[in-house]
Amino acid sequence: MSLENMSNAAVHVALFPNAGMGHLTPFLRLAALLVDRHCRVTVISPQPTVSMAESKHLSRFHSAFPQFEAIRRSCCLLPSLLASASPPLSAFVCDVTLISPVLPITESLRLPIFILFTSSARMLSLFSSVSRFIPSISEMDSVEIPGVSTIPRSCIPPLLLLPNNVFAKILLEDGPKLPKSCGILVNSFEALELNPLESLNSGKVVKELPPVFPIGPFVPCEFEKSENEEQRNSSPLKWLNDQSPGSVVYVSFGSRLGMAREQVREIGNGLMKSGFKFLWVVKDKKVDREEEDDVEKVIGVELMKRLKSNGLVVNEWVDQSDILSHSSVGGFVSHCGWNSVMEAAWHGVPILGWPQIGDQKLNAEVVEKTGWGIWRKTWGWAGENVVRGEEIGDAIDEMMKNEGLKMKAEKVKETARKAVDGGGSSEISVQRLIGEWKKMNDSC
Ligand code: UDP
Repeated sequence: MSLENMSNAAVHVALFPNAGMGHLTPFLRLAALLVDRHCRVTVISPQPTVSMAESKHLSRFHSAFPQFEAIRRSCCLLPSLLASASPPLSAFVCDVTLISPVLPITESLRLPIFILFTSSARMLSLFSSVSRFIPSISEMDSVEIPGVSTIPRSCIPPLLLLPNNVFAKILLEDGPKLPKSCGILVNSFEALELNPLESLNSGKVVKELPPVFPIGPFVPCEFEKSENEEQRNSSPLKWLNDQSPGSVVYVSFGSRLGMAREQVREIGNGLMKSGFKFLWVVKDKKVDREEEDDVEKVIGVELMKRLKSNGLVVNEWVDQSDILSHSSVGGFVSHCGWNSVMEAAWHGVPILGWPQIGDQKLNAEVVEKTGWGIWRKTWGWAGENVVRGEEIGDAIDEMMKNEGLKMKAEKVKETARKAVDGGGSSEISVQRLIGEWKKMNDSC
């Protein structure tokens, strides 16, 4: 072990993700990244999990890293758990959505708290400065984030425009608490989001904000893959093996979002209209729930028959990162959840963004500005309109045939990999972060 790695072993960090695959995935990737650098990591995992996907993900993680304990998550047990950690904790990294219940605990233990922000730096710039726009945000046409850009009303997460909504209240209370943390980690990298990262770190966005560490993209890990060869060789990867390079459109709207059946059927029509081969993950049930109805029932028998001639339709959990890394995949119709965006960047896959809720339009803007994806702003938020198959087919056609997008996607892949390589901007940020934690150890 090098001298540096030996001293990293003195760092002990506890990670505290919130429920849902969109939160668990980046936390476990961060855990793997820190273990790889010889830090000691305790993951306080959500138990019971809200979905089978999470439960499987955690058990694969535990098999790959037996040194991790699954500690039941409960805020009332948290103080004793953190206080009794052995060796004592250098720092505590929690999901941004948990900042309010956790801050009083870390403050009373005088434990340095860091935040893992699981969305884009662009979204962080809005989230951290949101209190500035209260109470008038619901009447504003746009908000100006100093040093970042003007965000039109149509891109602001709809919940923030409903200040009396309970979730909006939580968000509006959480944002102003960020300055109480010692640092904010984001799954992004300088070459992708230089402008918001610089503005966040120079105090232009919020003067009191702690340092923001861009340490992404988080690299998809081996343990995430289905455990056995048989499963790995089953559809959809096996089906992809039989397709020609760059020919397939992959369609997925993440782990949480169930779509109206009318819209689902229009997507089916759009895929048929585009004429491209496709792998489509249909989600009917909301918020991580397992599907109950047959995919045929959701889509309709007639349409399903036609779809089978040109693609594969599934309604189960797939290994998305494996799919995006497959040479047959030439484009990704995505809701622009930030993990999906970063996975597409990592594998160099062009995106047709179709943001549905929350931060997703801000993330789609990052993709569009970088030039490796497109999105149709007229399609609106989920449920605002039913987007017809005709339009969907045209947009897929535009994404799949656009050579400029493909070149940009390759470039993004190259810069993403450079960022995490030795000497890359994200690797330097990781080293700086671990350095901070070492200093915190020394000052305890
Ligand atoms: N995911 C997956 N298989 C699925 C659906 C989702 O592997 O069938 C993963 C995806 O690769 C990503 C995460 O689940 O890592 C979803 O996070 P994202 O931020 O993209 O969207 P969310 O589900 O939180 O809306």
